[in-house]
Amino acid sequence: MDVIAPRSVALGSNEGIRVRRTLPTRLHSTIGGWCFLDHYGPGRTAMEVGPHPHIGLQTASWLFSGEVDHRDSAGFAQRIRPGALNLMTAGRGITHSELSPSNDAMLHGVQLWIALPDDARFTAPTFEHHEFDPVVGTGWQATVFVGDLLGSTSAATVHSPLMGAEIHLDAEAEMRIPIQAAFEHGVLVDSGDVLVNGQSVDASSLAWMPPGERTLTITARTPARILLLGGEPLGEQLVMWWNFVGRSHDEIADAREAWQDDQRRAAMFGTLEHDALPLIPAPPMPTMRLKPRG
Ligand code: MN
Repeated sequence: MDVIAPRSVALGSNEGIRVRRTLPTRLHSTIGGWCFLDHYGPGRTAMEVGPHPHIGLQTASWLFSGEVDHRDSAGFAQRIRPGALNLMTAGRGITHSELSPSNDAMLHGVQLWIALPDDARFTAPTFEHHEFDPVVGTGWQATVFVGDLLGSTSAATVHSPLMGAEIHLDAEAEMRIPIQAAFEHGVLVDSGDVLVNGQSVDASSLAWMPPGERTLTITARTPARILLLGGEPLGEQLVMWWNFVGRSHDEIADAREAWQDDQRRAAMFGTLEHDALPLIPAPPMPTMRLKPRG
């Protein structure tokens, strides 16, 4: 098991929100198809991320508290609250924005990306919203928002074998979770004094585990909240830069060029009319060619 400490990254058009990023890192860039993990809050801060593009991925928004309004160029607009999943499939190209309806609420949650496998990455852009009933056991409660766990199945559409759940544990609870031996797993500790397979993991850190185990043991010495992610190793070489997941430097450079070009932008990413915030321009490409990972 590897424990990944988060790094702090400023996000959005106002730099008003700082996130704690634990994927990708030099050590591990994915947990199955999960390829990006930002953890933020709790804080009285506004999410103000203006229209920006994505290709080749799904975004999964999951809140512990607060509210965020999602709008996208596929025509969807959806407020998300704790216990619900906003799952946007960028496919071949989408534009979206995320804005807090008010900035006096505590905002706390995670933003995840899922890399689309090669056979699904040019799919049409779309969006799903799901609400879930938690599964309750002795000393714990789990909400499975992607895949299967603990007898609960999420209806969210994903394109590779994948699992995601939020789990609450009572103080002194020990939970043995049956897991898929073929999956890599990650445990993000949101809060509490937690042991993962007997090893202490600090809040906001991510414990990363390779395939091969059928049980995961979580011990909580205080009340705790964790996020459990799993997935079959994708086995594909990803090139990730800014908001794009592709397979080559040239593919990413072309997507960037299309976003910056008033003629090409709408054809590739659609249009998001009347957004409250301006379009976010792409940063310059790095001078070195982007290298695949995974
Ligand atoms: Mn986004």
